[in-house]
Amino acid sequence: MGGTFQQIADRVLAGTPATPEDALAVLRAPDDELMSVVAAAAELRRAHFGNTVKVNYLVNLKSGLCPENCNYCSQALGSSAPILKYSWLSPEEALEQAGAGLGGGASRVCLVASGRGPSDRDVDKVTSIVGELKEKHPGVEVCACLGLLGEGQAEQLERAGVDAYNHNINTAESNHENIVQTHTYDDRVDTVQKAKSAGISPCSGLIAGLGETDEQLVEALFALKELDADSIPVNYLMPFEGTAFENTWELTPARCVKILAMARFVCPDKEVRIAGGREMHLRSLQSIALHVANSIFLGDYLTSEGQDAEADLAMIRDNGFVVLGSEEELAQRDHRDPAIRRRGAGTDLLPNA
Ligand code: SF4
Repeated sequence: MGGTFQQIADRVLAGTPATPEDALAVLRAPDDELMSVVAAAAELRRAHFGNTVKVNYLVNLKSGLCPENCNYCSQALGSSAPILKYSWLSPEEALEQAGAGLGGGASRVCLVASGRGPSDRDVDKVTSIVGELKEKHPGVEVCACLGLLGEGQAEQLERAGVDAYNHNINTAESNHENIVQTHTYDDRVDTVQKAKSAGISPCSGLIAGLGETDEQLVEALFALKELDADSIPVNYLMPFEGTAFENTWELTPARCVKILAMARFVCPDKEVRIAGGREMHLRSLQSIALHVANSIFLGDYLTSEGQDAEADLAMIRDNGFVVLGSEEELAQRDHRDPAIRRRGAGTDLLPNA
């Protein structure tokens, strides 16, 4: 269809989904049109999420030593990146770590464990942590990210109160075998679908900068739309030394913003999260990216350090946003427009008495 970015946004707001051609146009926008792209995407962001930013906090329950060979991952056995390696955190330590994130303003805790997928005993471990976490922090949202799920495991997590399950498709199906050889794209999709069928909110996203073409990025995004992922983490490859992708630098800050904008155009009402690589790749455009995405991770990532949590929160405030679920945001909710009376006197409905 084409048109200016504002015209595409207007069409999307009016209910006509963005096409792959629209997405490609956003991705290929010249840098001198970056702010037009951002302004149009920001309108979609505001229409669905107002001035809120969802803050998520990662807890790496088990780090490194993964038998899979995801070529980008510092936790794969084949990686010699000098990351922290440890087996399961004790439940006490997991709760302490999660509590720190919640204290910092996060409303969702993401409990992550490296590995191909969890054993039933692993799922038991996670469900008991989730139970304690929810008891201690009522209202917390919990996302689990444990790899490929076996039969019945999603249901068990759902019964334990897990709200969301993350499993990224990472890249386009047509690029998948270039980034991992020990499992397939279909394996990944199957796990996202298992979570969804069990009634858990599917969280699935991508990693940009893995040698994919523009068309493959568009392909990946439309696949996520098709999968109906409720939240879409957009990661930018962090080329750890000692991984197959070391020294792979394909991204510029402007391209990183355009990738987020493309996600916003294609999935306007989904949580688009700036994930790993935010500081390294967006650099001074982090703030601008917040006008397109509506969600970030607070503080550190799984195996790398992020900027100070205080700086994350200051960036949110400085840009006129509020943390979703914070006192400020709740007060803002109280100050929404008066609800017009449509019951009682003058209507056929019973009065509120
Ligand atoms: S399965 Fe997960 S932890 Fe293991 S190598 Fe792949 S991305 Fe890394």
